[in-house]
Amino acid sequence: MDKSRLEEIRSRFQEEMQTELDSQAVYELRKRYLDRKAGLVSGLMKGMRDIPAAERAEYGESINRLKDWVVDHLGELEKKAKERELQKRYEQEKIDVTLPGKKIVRGNLHPTTLVRNEMIRVFSGMGFEVYEGTEIETDFYNFTALNTPKDHPARDMQDTFYLSDEFLLRTQTSSGQIHVMEKRKPPIKILSPGKVFRSDDDATHSPMFTQMEGLVVDRGITLCDLQGMLDQFVQKLFGAETKTRLRPSYFPFTEPSVEVDVSCFSCGGTGCKLCKGTGWIEILGAGVVNRKVLENCGICSDEYSGFAFGIGIERVAMLKYGINNIKLLFESDLRVLKQLRG
Ligand SMILES: [Zn+2]
Repeated sequence: MDKSRLEEIRSRFQEEMQTELDSQAVYELRKRYLDRKAGLVSGLMKGMRDIPAAERAEYGESINRLKDWVVDHLGELEKKAKERELQKRYEQEKIDVTLPGKKIVRGNLHPTTLVRNEMIRVFSGMGFEVYEGTEIETDFYNFTALNTPKDHPARDMQDTFYLSDEFLLRTQTSSGQIHVMEKRKPPIKILSPGKVFRSDDDATHSPMFTQMEGLVVDRGITLCDLQGMLDQFVQKLFGAETKTRLRPSYFPFTEPSVEVDVSCFSCGGTGCKLCKGTGWIEILGAGVVNRKVLENCGICSDEYSGFAFGIGIERVAMLKYGINNIKLLFESDLRVLKQLRG
Protein backbone atom coordinates (compact mmCIF):
# COMPACT_ATOMS: atom_id res chain seq x y z
CA MET A 1 0.00 0.00 0.00
CA ASP A 2 2.66 2.48 1.10
CA LYS A 3 5.07 1.28 -1.54
CA SER A 4 2.50 2.05 -4.18
CA ARG A 5 2.17 5.59 -2.72
CA LEU A 6 5.95 5.94 -3.11
CA GLU A 7 5.77 4.81 -6.74
CA GLU A 8 2.87 7.12 -7.37
CA ILE A 9 4.92 10.14 -6.18
CA ARG A 10 7.89 9.03 -8.23
CA SER A 11 5.90 8.66 -11.47
CA ARG A 12 4.10 11.95 -10.81
CA PHE A 13 7.43 13.72 -10.43
CA GLN A 14 8.74 12.06 -13.55
CA GLU A 15 5.74 13.29 -15.45
CA GLU A 16 6.14 16.84 -14.15
CA MET A 17 9.80 17.07 -15.08
CA GLN A 18 9.04 16.30 -18.73
CA THR A 19 7.82 19.82 -19.49
CA GLU A 20 10.24 22.68 -19.93
CA LEU A 21 10.39 24.44 -16.58
CA ASP A 22 11.78 27.87 -15.78
CA SER A 23 13.58 28.66 -12.49
CA GLN A 24 10.41 29.75 -10.79
CA ALA A 25 8.60 26.52 -11.78
CA VAL A 26 11.54 24.41 -10.53
CA TYR A 27 11.44 26.32 -7.23
CA GLU A 28 7.71 25.58 -6.90
CA LEU A 29 8.26 21.93 -7.79
CA ARG A 30 10.94 21.63 -5.10
CA LYS A 31 8.55 23.14 -2.58
CA ARG A 32 5.75 20.79 -3.57
CA TYR A 33 7.86 17.67 -3.09
CA LEU A 34 10.46 18.56 -0.48
CA ASP A 35 8.87 21.20 1.77
CA ARG A 36 9.50 20.05 5.36
CA LYS A 37 5.88 20.38 6.34
CA ALA A 38 3.72 20.11 3.26
CA GLY A 39 6.05 18.37 0.78
CA LEU A 40 4.86 15.12 -0.78
CA VAL A 41 8.10 13.25 0.02
CA SER A 42 8.21 14.65 3.57
CA GLY A 43 4.59 13.51 3.93
CA LEU A 44 5.68 9.90 3.43
CA MET A 45 7.80 10.11 6.59
CA LYS A 46 4.72 10.89 8.61
CA GLY A 47 3.27 7.50 7.58
CA MET A 48 6.25 5.67 9.19
CA ARG A 49 4.49 5.03 12.47
CA ASP A 50 1.83 2.92 10.71
CA ILE A 51 4.47 0.62 9.21
CA PRO A 52 5.20 -2.62 11.06
CA ALA A 53 8.53 -2.34 12.92
CA ALA A 54 10.20 -5.06 10.84
CA GLU A 55 9.60 -3.22 7.56
CA ARG A 56 10.27 0.25 8.90
CA ALA A 57 14.03 0.35 8.13
CA GLU A 58 13.54 -0.78 4.53
CA TYR A 59 10.65 1.62 4.05
CA GLY A 60 12.72 4.48 5.43
CA GLU A 61 15.52 3.63 3.03
CA SER A 62 13.12 3.63 0.06
CA ILE A 63 11.91 7.08 1.04
CA ASN A 64 15.48 8.36 1.31
CA ARG A 65 16.31 6.94 -2.11
CA LEU A 66 13.26 8.62 -3.55
CA LYS A 67 14.26 11.87 -1.85
CA ASP A 68 17.83 11.69 -3.24
CA TRP A 69 16.45 10.89 -6.67
CA VAL A 70 14.11 13.93 -6.52
CA VAL A 71 16.93 16.19 -5.23
CA ASP A 72 19.25 15.07 -8.06
CA HIS A 73 16.62 15.69 -10.71
CA LEU A 74 15.64 19.04 -9.25
CA GLY A 75 19.30 20.09 -9.37
CA GLU A 76 19.49 19.14 -13.02
CA LEU A 77 16.21 20.85 -13.84
CA GLU A 78 17.43 24.00 -12.12
CA LYS A 79 20.71 23.97 -14.03
CA LYS A 80 18.91 23.54 -17.36
CA ALA A 81 16.39 26.29 -16.54
CA LYS A 82 19.21 28.73 -15.68
CA GLU A 83 21.08 27.88 -18.88
CA ARG A 84 17.98 28.46 -20.98
CA GLU A 85 17.27 31.75 -19.25
CA LEU A 86 20.82 32.96 -19.71
CA GLN A 87 20.74 32.00 -23.39
CA LYS A 88 17.49 33.90 -23.81
CA ARG A 89 18.99 36.96 -22.17
CA TYR A 90 22.05 36.79 -24.42
CA GLU A 91 19.80 36.70 -27.45
CA GLN A 92 17.69 39.59 -26.25
CA GLU A 93 20.69 41.73 -25.40
CA LYS A 94 22.65 40.91 -28.49
CA ILE A 95 24.06 44.04 -30.09
CA ASP A 96 24.32 44.19 -33.83
CA VAL A 97 27.38 46.38 -34.31
CA THR A 98 26.68 46.68 -38.03
CA LEU A 99 23.43 48.61 -37.45
CA PRO A 100 23.67 52.36 -38.08
CA GLY A 101 23.76 54.45 -34.86
CA LYS A 102 20.98 56.74 -33.72
CA LYS A 103 21.44 60.19 -35.17
CA ILE A 104 21.77 62.93 -32.56
CA VAL A 105 19.84 65.93 -33.82
CA ARG A 106 21.47 69.21 -32.91
CA GLY A 107 19.22 72.17 -32.25
CA ASN A 108 19.91 75.73 -33.33
CA LEU A 109 18.94 79.13 -32.05
CA HIS A 110 15.74 80.70 -33.37
CA PRO A 111 16.33 83.24 -36.15
CA THR A 112 14.81 86.01 -33.98
CA THR A 113 17.29 85.17 -31.21
CA LEU A 114 20.17 85.02 -33.71
CA VAL A 115 19.34 88.50 -35.04
CA ARG A 116 18.80 89.87 -31.52
CA ASN A 117 22.17 88.49 -30.37
CA GLU A 118 23.90 89.84 -33.46
CA MET A 119 22.45 93.32 -32.88
CA ILE A 120 23.44 93.30 -29.21
CA ARG A 121 26.94 92.24 -30.22
CA VAL A 122 27.29 95.11 -32.73
CA PHE A 123 25.89 97.77 -30.38
CA SER A 124 27.86 96.49 -27.39
CA GLY A 125 30.96 97.09 -29.47
CA MET A 126 29.90 100.76 -29.68
CA GLY A 127 29.59 101.02 -25.91
CA PHE A 128 25.86 100.37 -25.42
CA GLU A 129 24.72 98.48 -22.35
CA VAL A 130 21.56 96.37 -22.24
CA TYR A 131 18.58 97.39 -20.15
CA GLU A 132 15.54 95.10 -20.18
CA GLY A 133 12.33 96.73 -19.03
CA THR A 134 9.04 95.12 -18.08
CA GLU A 135 6.38 93.86 -20.50
CA ILE A 136 3.55 95.26 -18.38
CA GLU A 137 3.79 99.00 -18.19
CA THR A 138 1.74 101.88 -16.89
CA ASP A 139 0.01 104.23 -19.26
CA PHE A 140 2.38 106.94 -18.00
CA TYR A 141 5.64 105.20 -19.02
CA ASN A 142 4.30 103.83 -22.30
CA PHE A 143 2.62 107.03 -23.48
CA THR A 144 2.38 110.13 -21.29
CA ALA A 145 6.08 110.43 -20.40
CA LEU A 146 6.89 109.82 -24.07
CA ASN A 147 5.03 113.00 -24.97
CA THR A 148 1.85 111.16 -25.87
CA PRO A 149 -0.71 112.33 -23.30
CA LYS A 150 -4.27 110.98 -23.27
CA ASP A 151 -6.30 112.17 -26.29
CA HIS A 152 -3.07 112.68 -28.27
CA PRO A 153 -3.86 111.61 -31.85
CA ALA A 154 -0.63 109.56 -31.99
CA ARG A 155 -2.19 107.06 -29.57
CA ASP A 156 -4.30 105.88 -32.48
CA MET A 157 -1.13 104.87 -34.33
CA GLN A 158 -0.82 101.88 -32.00
CA ASP A 159 -3.67 99.55 -31.07
CA THR A 160 -3.01 98.91 -27.42
CA PHE A 161 -3.87 95.95 -25.19
CA TYR A 162 -5.06 97.60 -21.98
CA LEU A 163 -5.09 95.50 -18.79
CA SER A 164 -6.89 98.22 -16.82
CA ASP A 165 -7.20 102.00 -17.02
CA GLU A 166 -3.67 102.32 -15.74
CA PHE A 167 -1.84 99.17 -16.88
CA LEU A 168 -1.17 97.89 -20.40
CA LEU A 169 1.10 95.57 -22.37
CA ARG A 170 3.85 97.85 -23.62
CA THR A 171 3.45 98.82 -27.28
CA GLN A 172 7.09 99.87 -27.62
CA THR A 173 10.37 99.32 -25.82
CA SER A 174 10.68 103.14 -25.68
CA SER A 175 9.07 102.96 -22.24
CA GLY A 176 12.44 101.64 -21.01
CA GLN A 177 14.04 104.99 -21.93
CA ILE A 178 11.98 106.81 -19.34
CA HIS A 179 12.89 104.39 -16.53
CA VAL A 180 16.59 104.77 -17.32
CA MET A 181 16.50 108.57 -17.70
CA GLU A 182 14.62 108.91 -14.40
CA LYS A 183 17.27 106.96 -12.54
CA ARG A 184 20.48 108.00 -14.23
CA LYS A 185 22.26 111.19 -15.17
CA PRO A 186 23.77 111.52 -18.68
CA PRO A 187 25.85 110.30 -20.36
CA ILE A 188 23.39 107.48 -21.12
CA LYS A 189 23.93 104.83 -23.80
CA ILE A 190 21.50 101.95 -23.52
CA LEU A 191 19.96 99.23 -25.63
CA SER A 192 16.59 97.88 -24.63
CA PRO A 193 15.52 94.67 -26.39
CA GLY A 194 12.22 92.98 -25.60
CA LYS A 195 8.73 91.87 -26.55
CA VAL A 196 6.09 94.45 -27.41
CA PHE A 197 2.38 93.97 -28.01
CA ARG A 198 -0.11 95.50 -30.42
CA SER A 199 -3.57 94.49 -31.54
CA ASP A 200 -2.41 93.95 -35.10
CA ASP A 201 -2.37 90.76 -37.15
CA ASP A 202 -1.49 90.16 -40.82
CA ALA A 203 1.33 88.77 -42.99
CA THR A 204 3.85 91.36 -41.81
CA HIS A 205 2.39 92.18 -38.36
CA SER A 206 2.00 90.01 -35.27
CA PRO A 207 0.23 90.87 -31.99
CA MET A 208 3.55 90.18 -30.25
CA PHE A 209 6.90 91.01 -31.71
CA THR A 210 10.39 91.95 -30.58
CA GLN A 211 11.84 95.40 -30.67
CA MET A 212 15.21 96.81 -29.91
CA GLU A 213 15.36 100.33 -28.61
CA GLY A 214 18.50 102.42 -28.45
CA LEU A 215 18.99 105.65 -26.53
CA VAL A 216 21.96 107.98 -26.31
CA VAL A 217 21.85 111.14 -24.17
CA ASP A 218 24.86 113.41 -23.69
CA ARG A 219 26.05 116.93 -24.33
CA GLY A 220 25.96 117.99 -27.98
CA ILE A 221 24.29 114.93 -29.49
CA THR A 222 22.79 115.60 -32.95
CA LEU A 223 21.07 113.79 -35.81
CA CYS A 224 24.51 113.43 -37.46
CA ASP A 225 25.65 111.25 -34.55
CA LEU A 226 22.60 109.08 -35.10
CA GLN A 227 23.30 108.66 -38.80
CA GLY A 228 26.99 107.94 -38.24
CA MET A 229 26.16 105.24 -35.73
CA LEU A 230 23.43 103.71 -37.91
CA ASP A 231 25.82 103.56 -40.89
CA GLN A 232 28.23 101.52 -38.80
CA PHE A 233 25.42 99.31 -37.54
CA VAL A 234 23.90 98.42 -40.93
CA GLN A 235 27.31 97.84 -42.48
CA LYS A 236 28.14 95.32 -39.77
CA LEU A 237 24.73 93.65 -40.08
CA PHE A 238 24.16 93.65 -43.85
CA GLY A 239 27.62 94.20 -45.37
CA ALA A 240 30.22 96.96 -45.87
CA GLU A 241 28.53 98.37 -49.01
CA THR A 242 25.25 99.15 -47.23
CA LYS A 243 24.21 102.80 -47.09
CA THR A 244 21.48 104.55 -45.07
CA ARG A 245 18.93 107.16 -46.07
CA LEU A 246 16.87 109.25 -43.66
CA ARG A 247 13.31 110.29 -44.52
CA PRO A 248 11.26 112.71 -42.40
CA SER A 249 8.67 111.03 -40.22
CA TYR A 250 6.74 111.63 -37.05
CA PHE A 251 6.95 110.14 -33.56
CA PRO A 252 5.71 112.12 -30.56
CA PHE A 253 8.85 111.38 -28.53
CA THR A 254 11.43 112.51 -31.11
CA GLU A 255 11.83 115.84 -32.91
CA PRO A 256 12.88 115.72 -35.68
CA SER A 257 11.83 112.13 -36.41
CA VAL A 258 13.09 109.99 -39.26
CA GLU A 259 12.43 106.69 -40.97
CA VAL A 260 15.70 105.02 -41.86
CA ASP A 261 16.11 103.06 -45.08
CA VAL A 262 19.08 100.91 -46.02
CA SER A 263 20.29 100.35 -49.55
CA CYS A 264 18.95 96.97 -50.67
CA PHE A 265 21.47 94.30 -49.69
CA SER A 266 19.90 91.89 -52.15
CA CYS A 267 20.28 93.88 -55.39
CA GLY A 268 22.74 96.53 -54.23
CA GLY A 269 20.30 99.35 -55.08
CA THR A 270 19.35 98.53 -58.67
CA GLY A 271 15.85 97.34 -57.69
CA CYS A 272 14.50 93.85 -56.98
CA LYS A 273 11.54 92.01 -55.46
CA LEU A 274 12.81 92.44 -51.90
CA CYS A 275 13.04 96.24 -52.15
CA LYS A 276 9.95 96.41 -54.41
CA GLY A 277 12.07 97.93 -57.17
CA THR A 278 13.05 101.02 -55.14
CA GLY A 279 16.58 99.94 -54.17
CA TRP A 280 15.85 100.89 -50.54
CA ILE A 281 14.41 98.96 -47.59
CA GLU A 282 12.82 100.61 -44.57
CA ILE A 283 14.54 99.29 -41.48
CA LEU A 284 13.81 101.43 -38.42
CA GLY A 285 12.37 104.59 -36.90
CA ALA A 286 14.53 107.09 -35.06
CA GLY A 287 15.00 110.72 -34.15
CA VAL A 288 16.38 113.34 -31.81
CA VAL A 289 14.84 112.91 -28.36
CA ASN A 290 12.02 115.44 -27.91
CA ARG A 291 13.00 118.11 -25.37
CA LYS A 292 9.72 117.48 -23.56
CA VAL A 293 10.69 113.82 -22.96
CA LEU A 294 14.03 114.89 -21.44
CA GLU A 295 12.27 117.45 -19.25
CA ASN A 296 9.68 114.82 -18.17
CA CYS A 297 12.60 112.80 -16.78
CA GLY A 298 14.27 115.76 -15.05
CA ILE A 299 17.09 116.12 -17.59
CA CYS A 300 17.93 119.72 -18.60
CA SER A 301 17.19 119.97 -22.33
CA ASP A 302 19.41 123.06 -22.73
CA GLU A 303 22.44 121.17 -21.47
CA TYR A 304 21.74 117.72 -22.89
CA SER A 305 20.34 116.23 -26.06
CA GLY A 306 20.03 112.72 -27.39
CA PHE A 307 18.81 110.39 -30.07
CA ALA A 308 16.70 107.26 -29.95
CA PHE A 309 15.94 104.50 -32.42
CA GLY A 310 13.66 101.47 -32.47
CA ILE A 311 14.17 98.41 -34.67
CA GLY A 312 11.73 95.54 -35.22
CA ILE A 313 13.85 92.42 -34.74
CA GLU A 314 11.48 90.14 -36.67
CA ARG A 315 11.53 92.62 -39.54
CA VAL A 316 15.31 92.40 -39.74
CA ALA A 317 15.12 88.58 -39.45
CA MET A 318 12.58 88.48 -42.31
CA LEU A 319 14.84 90.62 -44.50
CA LYS A 320 17.99 88.73 -43.57
CA TYR A 321 16.50 85.27 -44.18
CA GLY A 322 14.14 86.21 -47.04
CA ILE A 323 10.93 85.34 -45.14
CA ASN A 324 7.74 86.88 -46.49
CA ASN A 325 5.36 85.98 -43.65
CA ILE A 326 6.04 86.92 -40.03
CA LYS A 327 3.96 83.92 -38.87
CA LEU A 328 6.80 81.61 -39.93
CA LEU A 329 8.85 83.09 -37.10
CA PHE A 330 6.20 82.23 -34.49
CA GLU A 331 4.85 78.87 -35.64
CA SER A 332 7.82 76.78 -34.47
CA ASP A 333 7.70 74.71 -37.67
CA LEU A 334 10.96 72.73 -37.60
CA ARG A 335 11.00 72.40 -41.38
CA VAL A 336 11.36 76.18 -41.54
CA LEU A 337 13.59 76.72 -38.51
CA LYS A 338 16.11 74.08 -39.61
CA GLN A 339 16.76 76.12 -42.75
CA LEU A 340 17.37 79.30 -40.81
CA ARG A 341 20.56 78.52 -38.94
CA GLY A 342 22.88 81.45 -38.34
ZN1 LIG B 1 16.62 95.17 -54.02
